[in-house]
Amino acid sequence: MNPRPDPPEVDRVAASRAAVAARRARAAVKHDIATHSRTARDVLDTAWTNPGSAEAGLRVRELLTSVPTLGPVRAAKVMTELGIAESKRAAGLGTRQRSELWNYLQGREGGIAPGRLVVLAGPTAVGKGSVSAYIREKYPEIHLSVSATTRPPRTGEIDGVHYFFVSDAEFDRMISAHELLEWAVVHNSYRYGTPRPSIDAALEAGKRVLLEIDLQGARNVKAELPSAVLVFLLPPSWEELVRRLTTRGTEDPADQARRLETARVELAAQDEFDYRVVNTEVGQAAREVVELMAVPSHRP
Ligand code: 5GP
Repeated sequence: MNPRPDPPEVDRVAASRAAVAARRARAAVKHDIATHSRTARDVLDTAWTNPGSAEAGLRVRELLTSVPTLGPVRAAKVMTELGIAESKRAAGLGTRQRSELWNYLQGREGGIAPGRLVVLAGPTAVGKGSVSAYIREKYPEIHLSVSATTRPPRTGEIDGVHYFFVSDAEFDRMISAHELLEWAVVHNSYRYGTPRPSIDAALEAGKRVLLEIDLQGARNVKAELPSAVLVFLLPPSWEELVRRLTTRGTEDPADQARRLETARVELAAQDEFDYRVVNTEVGQAAREVVELMAVPSHRP
């Protein structure tokens, strides 16, 4: 005999409807976090004061991965560090886990970055140039570093504005005179480097500084200046990245193929970065980058 008879059909239908509604409500909460409509801390607040809410039933892993600047790898790391089990839901956290998670999110979401120097990197054609051009125009108080390069100027590029276009001999001189904070050969072709004196001067003057450089450069800057904040700009999808690269028409097919290969490798490095920003819309991405440059007032 079956000790627990199946519920009547009508109950099962009602239960499955309720489950679908709950899932939808949780998806809406995640969407709100992902689009900055609510902070993860606000969601936790509701979860902890209202145990029957959609927020209460949200898994911590889902909550964390909805935070725009947190990826799955970092989210998993945070959960391990805080001793939160994979399947844990927000309302199921213990007192200590609650306060530790709260503190972690406060540091993460508070728009508080630990430094004034932000390095913006990301795969080719993701729109780093557009995001930094937007910042140049809308936030003139931010110092944008102008790199030196041995690549010839493209149409419309101005020496001293977009790059300092230099000869190989001049680039060699800059290296030996220690004028570069970092330099790298990018896309296996030309050399690019970050001039150090202007950055030092801007930082000393208390300005916020933005470097838009490649991945190797970002790693080297972090090694030189550990307080630098590394931001990885992501495309909404790989297909979109390919579309952006092939339709901008600035590279020939061989160059495009080379850059896509570099992009594939670069995308795999995103978890080395402090923050990730998705470039769906240039203005929004730029604002997120600028928010990460907020300097907490208690810093010396
Ligand atoms: P493009 O030739 O399209 O202007 O830039 C090619 C790549 O070089 C981009 O990924 C850009 O971020 C990178 N880049 C520009 N300036 C620097 C720099 O000073 N240092 C490094 N390491 N990369 C740079």
